[in-house]
Amino acid sequence: MSSLSRRRLFTAAAGVAVAAAAPRMVFAQAMAPAGAFKLPALAYPYNALEPHIDAKTMEIHNTRHHQAFVTNLNNFAKDNPQIAEKPIADVLANLSALPDTIRTGVRNSMGGHANHTMFWEIMGPNGGKAGGEVLAAIDRDLGGMEKMTNDFNAAGGRVFGSGWVFVNVAKDGKLSMETRPNQDNPMMDGKLALFGNDVWEHAYYLNYQNRRPDYLKAWWNTVNWTKISERYAAAKAGKLAV
Ligand code: MN
Repeated sequence: MSSLSRRRLFTAAAGVAVAAAAPRMVFAQAMAPAGAFKLPALAYPYNALEPHIDAKTMEIHNTRHHQAFVTNLNNFAKDNPQIAEKPIADVLANLSALPDTIRTGVRNSMGGHANHTMFWEIMGPNGGKAGGEVLAAIDRDLGGMEKMTNDFNAAGGRVFGSGWVFVNVAKDGKLSMETRPNQDNPMMDGKLALFGNDVWEHAYYLNYQNRRPDYLKAWWNTVNWTKISERYAAAKAGKLAV
């Protein structure tokens, strides 16, 4: 075996060993620049939400739109490591404490990172139906499933330009609905999103063009109620991070 082949073999073997022992480190080293903020992996393939959300929209939305927020945050964190050292909820609730030079950028990118991390999590194939404590809370606080979905779709339809519609959960389990512009997130006012829908055109334009109401209606077929129930329990336990 030539020395070159041996070196290649050694490098390959070492790479496998490192990857097995510390996959996160290998991933971080492969990123340029390395950073504390990471694009979360989806729990389902890009085509899993078809026909309601097409695979191309999911792929672009995840790997380009969400990735851009992650990249921006890692760039901000190079000179302002404090944004990566605290929980996202703390940074978003205290944007006024940030230097002027990065405040708007962190608001947009960290809001976007939080919003999309939640968004991927609360969707999925075979999402079932609302039940248990979440359904009871929807009945109690939002007038039942039919009224809640109608109000949610109407609120999402009224967002002018780009933004989000959320159902928030308080620490005592009480639900409330609101919309936010741009990439703002309820954590900016010390609240927490139980679930929400993205009404930026990039979330639906390939399939629905200007028909946002059709997207809002179809989106309910992608909702993962099992995951929302888990988030509800986590919020009441004070353990819902994003
Ligand atoms: Mn989006």
